[in-house]
Amino acid sequence: MSLTGLFGGTFNPVHLGHLKVAEEVIRRFPLDRILFIPSYIPPHKSPGEVVPVRHRLKMLAIACQAHPSFEVSEVEARRPGPSYSIVTLRRLKRARPEDRFFFIVGSDAFLEIETWKDYERLLTECSFIVVSRPGFGIKLVEKVIARINLTALPIPGRRTAIKSENLKPGSLFLLEVRTPDISSTEVRRRIKAGLPVTGLVPPGVEQYMAKHKLYS
Ligand code: ATP
Ligand code: MG
Repeated sequence: MSLTGLFGGTFNPVHLGHLKVAEEVIRRFPLDRILFIPSYIPPHKSPGEVVPVRHRLKMLAIACQAHPSFEVSEVEARRPGPSYSIVTLRRLKRARPEDRFFFIVGSDAFLEIETWKDYERLLTECSFIVVSRPGFGIKLVEKVIARINLTALPIPGRRTAIKSENLKPGSLFLLEVRTPDISSTEVRRRIKAGLPVTGLVPPGVEQYMAKHKLYS
């Protein structure tokens, strides 16, 4: 059995905010690995602004290279159409029935959980780790958690300090941590305006975008 984090997103492109989220989670929580799962077409976005998934996969592979526990999953990328988390989870569970799965989401994404397909089932079939994002405070998240009748568990300072009974499906952890205030929208906007994105994305990703003239 391994504990697997599922970090879904458009990753259009991956940036240092995403990496900080994954780094903080793996530092504080006993996960064996984190799968970065780019969506084929995100349910909430218009396809026009999203570059083809092969580019987003490649940029993720570059970004994850230096991290032994970060992996890129093609589970959604290989299936045309909108990507629903509940469908992804069930497919991954079928492939690895012994594993425990933890969805990792930023607080902005979690605030919309009630719009996700079958979100109530999703919340009982796996666990969630909600990570704070600048501008989307934990107070709002706590309101949503109360409304959907869940209890938030804090994440202790050490990864060994998590009680094993809390590792069962249906748990929800809240991780308040400072992540850089970076978004893919801002990265795309800067590239379009001819501005540098150094310090916002890993150097290899910056080079890849320039080489393939992405977002310009
Ligand atoms: P866009 O501006 O295109 O929406 P984004 O920066 O929000 O891009 P996504 O691919 O939409 O990136 O997000 C994937 C996941 O990463 C979401 O759960 C989101 O909340 C989280 N996330 C993205 N950036 C940050 C950040 N700076 N801090 C914390 N969480 C983040
Ligand atoms: Mg987003």
